[in-house]
Amino acid sequence: MSNTYEVIVVGAGSMGMAAGWHLAQRGVRTLLVDAFHPPHTLGSHHGDTRIIRHAYGEGRQYVPLALRAQQLWLELQVEAGTQIFAQTGVLSLGRAGSPFMEEVVRSSASFDLPLEVLDAAEIRRRWPGWRLPDDYVGSLETSSGVLFSEHCIRAMRRLGEARGMQVLVNTPVDDIRVDGQGASVRAGLSVYTAERVIVTVGAWAKRLLAAAGLDVPVLPMRKVIAWFECDEDLYGAAEFPAFTCETGKAHYYGFPSFGGTGIKVGRHDGGQAADPDTMERTFGAYPEDEGDLRRFLQDFLPRANGRLITGKTCVYTMSPDEHFIIDRHPERPQLLFACGFSGHGFKFASAIGEVLAQLAVADRAELDVSMFSLRRFQPL
Ligand SMILES: Cc1cc2nc3c(=O)[nH]c(=O)nc-3n(C[C@H](O)[C@H](O)[C@H](O)COP(=O)(O)OP(=O)(O)OC[C@H]3O[C@@H](n4cnc5c(N)ncnc54)[C@H](O)[C@@H]3O)c2cc1C
Repeated sequence: MSNTYEVIVVGAGSMGMAAGWHLAQRGVRTLLVDAFHPPHTLGSHHGDTRIIRHAYGEGRQYVPLALRAQQLWLELQVEAGTQIFAQTGVLSLGRAGSPFMEEVVRSSASFDLPLEVLDAAEIRRRWPGWRLPDDYVGSLETSSGVLFSEHCIRAMRRLGEARGMQVLVNTPVDDIRVDGQGASVRAGLSVYTAERVIVTVGAWAKRLLAAAGLDVPVLPMRKVIAWFECDEDLYGAAEFPAFTCETGKAHYYGFPSFGGTGIKVGRHDGGQAADPDTMERTFGAYPEDEGDLRRFLQDFLPRANGRLITGKTCVYTMSPDEHFIIDRHPERPQLLFACGFSGHGFKFASAIGEVLAQLAVADRAELDVSMFSLRRFQPL
């Protein structure tokens, strides 16, 4: 096999696999290189499910990206002939007047998205599994729901490979060089060359991009998720929407039970700063791994506070302002990178892959991603 490509994607997880899928659709000669065997359980994409929401509490600038991503996920589902999305709806909960809840409503109004605003009494009536204080409100978006993240990556990989995309697994890249001639990527004793390189290595971004001369301010955080036995009539996917719940002190999220899997919950804020190579990967190593999630269940979802079925650790890659970083090297534009997805990137992966493919092939993207520039962190 020749070692020369038009584009090399380093890191074939959520964003990298999506970029490869789009490049392959465009007939671009592409190599993806991953340290492991994606989908896998050592990065940020495992644990079965990810929420996709369109009205966006983190900022209405994300809405066009969310809508494009939803459209692409649905196209992927049809083309792959496998279920990657379940339209469970998503219920965003929080205290009335919280900035997050206000932005959910404002972003839906700005883009004319269907959103039902409900008070606590109405939420308790519709979903008796919720125990909710009276000063909470909810926004229900029925058009959104749950992505089966590992199925998404598997589907993009299969369709990309069918169009000639090459994937090199269990091959950690240790150096990237870019000069006037193009880019070269070194993995052990092998060197691969291309006109462009896209770096999407998730929690490993700081280290690998430093080798390419970039200082990217991201911090990996250890996170946990767990599944609990619950009352299936109350919390099954046919009845119960995926949710986010901001309590003022913490921000939780969760998924209904899919055919008896149990309710899955996680906490969006908090976690432990970690090195992805040495991080404690055992769920339960810290008492708060289970204890914190149980407290939330006890207070808000008491009939889902059953036996622990299983728990897993995963990793977020935080940027300082929790917005993404998508940019190119300031002096060597053949090098593109995307990282710092701060625990809310998966839903957008299908669209970010498209953006990266467009930037690699045509130097410009149809969606405006300028708010994700690395320059925002650099002093003027
Ligand atoms: C518990 C949890 C819950 C989440 N929930 C949601 C949610 O509900 N909705 C949502 O939108 N987002 C959610 N997210 C966030 C989302 O999953 C991430 O933002 C997204 O997966 C990040 O994608 P990535 O491509 O940056 O990282 P990854 O998918 O981890 O991909 C990075 C890849 O790079 C590879 N790599 C690393 N180093 C090298 C190297 N040197 N050489 C070659 N390859 C390398 C890795 O093996 C990996 O495959 C959640 C994340 C976690 C952890």
